[in-house]
Amino acid sequence: MLRFRSLGSGSSGNATLVHARSGTTATTLLVDCGLGVRALERRAAQAGVALADVDAIFITHEHSDHIGCARSVARRYRIPVWMSAGTHQALREQDFDGLLRIAVDGDPITLGDLRIDPFAVPHDAAEPLQLRCTDGDARLGILTDLGHVPPPVLAQLAGCRSVLLECNHDAGMLESGPYPWFLKRRVGGDWGHLANAAAAEAVRALAPLGLQQVVAAHLSRKNNQPALAREAVAGALGCAPGEVHVADQEEGTGWLDA
Ligand SMILES: [Zn+2]
Ligand SMILES: [Zn+2]
Repeated sequence: MLRFRSLGSGSSGNATLVHARSGTTATTLLVDCGLGVRALERRAAQAGVALADVDAIFITHEHSDHIGCARSVARRYRIPVWMSAGTHQALREQDFDGLLRIAVDGDPITLGDLRIDPFAVPHDAAEPLQLRCTDGDARLGILTDLGHVPPPVLAQLAGCRSVLLECNHDAGMLESGPYPWFLKRRVGGDWGHLANAAAAEAVRALAPLGLQQVVAAHLSRKNNQPALAREAVAGALGCAPGEVHVADQEEGTGWLDA
């Protein structure tokens, strides 16, 4: 059984729990650590997870809304931390007290009941990796912080039943919104963040390949509205807008079966 739960998503911080269970064993992965320690501990506890029981942390890239409290949580609870070599270099950290593990684009990671497949994405960070997780049955894709979805990235998500997918902005709201022009260009560019329409296009391509559930994530507070993201995704998935989950900055989501 594979399930997942956002503990918060957006430019103020991202963290997602992925939990696999088979028979008597269970594996818990924490993807990104972009919250304060207290908030992370509290939201994990609300999800029924003690951080001491997290088997590994996977950091997608070095931006502060993803790295957050990874250093202190890893050390405090002695949790191995996976990231790309480029992300590690950008952080100018030693080896996290021996807890550092280097993830490589295309090299699967086996973690108890979970298999993790990291893959490279176009984003303005050193070497960002997003990921696909499976317990051998269900497949979950996690895809945020990318400017566009090139075919190799789309191919990584083929066959995923669930995807936590960035729906960062509505192009019109970004264009007419309060950001200075350089930031508009960065966010809306090919190496920035995914627009609702681009997310919907990916969903449209993945729906015939088995995609059934989408969690819209990393929504911009200034340049998007949950209703717009829901509408875009629902149109592409062929479901009602209410069936599309939105990962809230403060609340995340409940547990969802992948
Ligand atoms: Zn981010
Ligand atoms: Zn980022």
